[in-house]
Amino acid sequence: MATTLNDIRNIGVIAHIDAGKTTVTERMLYYSHFTHRVGRVDKGTTTTDYDPEEQDRGITINSACVTFDWKKKQINLIDTPGHVDFTAEVERSLRVLDGGVVVFSAREGVEAQSETVWRQADHYHVPRLAFINKMDREGADFYETLSEIEKRLDANPIVITLPVGAGPPHVNDAFRGTIDLIRMKMLTFEAASEGVGITVSDIPEDMVDDAEMWRGQMLEQLSLYSDELTELLLAEEDVPEQIINSVLRQATLHDMVVPMLCGSALDGIGVQPLLDAVIAYLPSPGDMPPVEGMEPGKEDKKLTRKPETTEPFCGLLFKIESSKHGDLNYVRIYSGELKANSRILNPGKNAKENAPQIWRIQANRREQVPKVGPGEIIGIIGLRKTVTGDTLCDIKDPILLESISFPETVLSMAIEPETADERKKLSAALDMMRRQDPTFLASENEETGQTLISGMGELHLEVIQHRLQRDHGVKIRVHSPRVSYRETIEKKAETLGQCHRTLGGARLTAGVRIRIEPFEATEGRPVVITSECDPELVPKEYRTAILETLEGESEGGGLFGFPLINVKITLLGAEVHESESNEMAFRMASGEAFRNALNEAGVVLLEPIMKLEVTTPEDYLGDFVGDVQQRRGMITHTHQRGRNAVLDAEVPLANLFGYASAMRGMSQGRAQCSMEPHKYGPAPPEVRESFEF
Ligand code: GDP
Ligand code: MG
Repeated sequence: MATTLNDIRNIGVIAHIDAGKTTVTERMLYYSHFTHRVGRVDKGTTTTDYDPEEQDRGITINSACVTFDWKKKQINLIDTPGHVDFTAEVERSLRVLDGGVVVFSAREGVEAQSETVWRQADHYHVPRLAFINKMDREGADFYETLSEIEKRLDANPIVITLPVGAGPPHVNDAFRGTIDLIRMKMLTFEAASEGVGITVSDIPEDMVDDAEMWRGQMLEQLSLYSDELTELLLAEEDVPEQIINSVLRQATLHDMVVPMLCGSALDGIGVQPLLDAVIAYLPSPGDMPPVEGMEPGKEDKKLTRKPETTEPFCGLLFKIESSKHGDLNYVRIYSGELKANSRILNPGKNAKENAPQIWRIQANRREQVPKVGPGEIIGIIGLRKTVTGDTLCDIKDPILLESISFPETVLSMAIEPETADERKKLSAALDMMRRQDPTFLASENEETGQTLISGMGELHLEVIQHRLQRDHGVKIRVHSPRVSYRETIEKKAETLGQCHRTLGGARLTAGVRIRIEPFEATEGRPVVITSECDPELVPKEYRTAILETLEGESEGGGLFGFPLINVKITLLGAEVHESESNEMAFRMASGEAFRNALNEAGVVLLEPIMKLEVTTPEDYLGDFVGDVQQRRGMITHTHQRGRNAVLDAEVPLANLFGYASAMRGMSQGRAQCSMEPHKYGPAPPEVRESFEF
């Protein structure tokens, strides 16, 4: 167990589906002695994630965070699971981890999702390592992948291990080991011991020139960050290992370079050097700058907390694992200490919580602990009101950290219980699943008895459906999925809403003036509502009633009944009548102002657009291009990768139902695709007309 902050690494393994994240993780756990056999992912499909055997074993791996030791340091491996809600899961993990290992497949190189997660990591300034996996695959190309990382990701990779050979055992010059460019040694991994045994030998003769060239390149890249190193190079002196490591560490910590390693997780090649690199180059919580937040309720008052035990406690809940016995709440602690059974504050909800039990989640067991400190990631059992993205902090020293934003759902599906008895079960199951997965929404319609579930795509909803039926044993009927539309406005408008009514003999009078305008939404806030109204002229309770009504109306939907996005509404002023104004009058006037504003500003119906990437043998490219165009898609990019063509496009989700099987049909099963929600774009007139009345 770690004794100081510097001994901890909070990292995540992130990757495009199938690049080998699960396999790399399995290997890490195996080499650190947490698992006693190497788990293997069956070939191919996502269904492997559901076979019971994978699940039994998967419990540890799929935990939000697994702790294990490597060379006396503590590695907290934060899972970034999910092929489905991929982006969102990564988002929340990136929010709490300090460093990342990005796994690429040497065969597929940089894929659409790798690009997405890379950009997310850029956004959070997460220092990272790149691991080029699957060097044993037919068509594996380390150098091509390197060049794609440079070009497609605008990254600055530094090669620190070179592959020796490439491809499977039966090919000429098969992949058989790696060269450590820092120590200038070749490493081979003993197959008989699953790669536990490592032999360090001299670099094979035919690789010496290459190795020297790449070492030179590495040193030259590093010299940009160190005068000491530059001087040694100029003087043509040997550069000691320890200087290389310290310059590389500093440059990586500052997110200026990405050390790049390679191997084959499946064959147990190159994973221990990757673990060494995690320790050597990725940050400890102590390397992180103080976490920033604000004083609750005062958005302009910035506060910071250093990762020290003497600071007041603060942490962020980033994931909930729900079970029938209670929720395990995963919290990253940024500062101070948290003791079991202490009272803490959820400043966002202004609610006090008790933290009865604190657990450290080891890869193969859970251990209850009395106290934890900064940099740690732990599970709390017994919280009542706190949800994913909420801050927890010291009651006496409140601080509100930035929450985690999740993308809007794009697809919904109506489900209903088969019998009345199932209703309660369904509602409990949905409740639990919603707590775990913030990208999943469910709302019950009392009138129809149906529940509308919404998620990030076809597969996401399918998985939810399976979980309800299989894990929770609920019998449900499902209707076909439907795209989630949104509304926004065309232009700015200023309007007045009035209330002149007689209700139960009393006169009600009020006027509300608002401005509505298009607005690029800040994270997680589709509609921004503010006030420029002079507080002296309008009493606070009226202003609150107005703002609440505007908020409710915009959530309730625009002219077509779909939620509004990318809109800013500003309260400009209100007309108060001395005796005839009250809260109700202002609520009515606000509703009218809102509807007038929408009519005047013009409503645009939006549909979800997906980012689609298809990798196909060249021969079928023409067919795919034609097909995408027929689906109202826009092709953004095509390029060659090995013998395959890669097609990137933006396609309305409404036209992508069943795409995976259509794609297999078009290519005799040889093409692959991935898709993810990208943005909302204007829906075509016929869709709009179908909602007009
Ligand atoms: P994930 O989706 O990123 O978690 O990827 P997985 O670890 O599930 O791996 C996807 C597929 O690639 C599985 O069939 C693995 O057996 C296979 N795989 C993973 N790593 C390697 C590797 O290094 N070499 C080869 N040949 N296959 C691998
Ligand atoms: Mg996996």
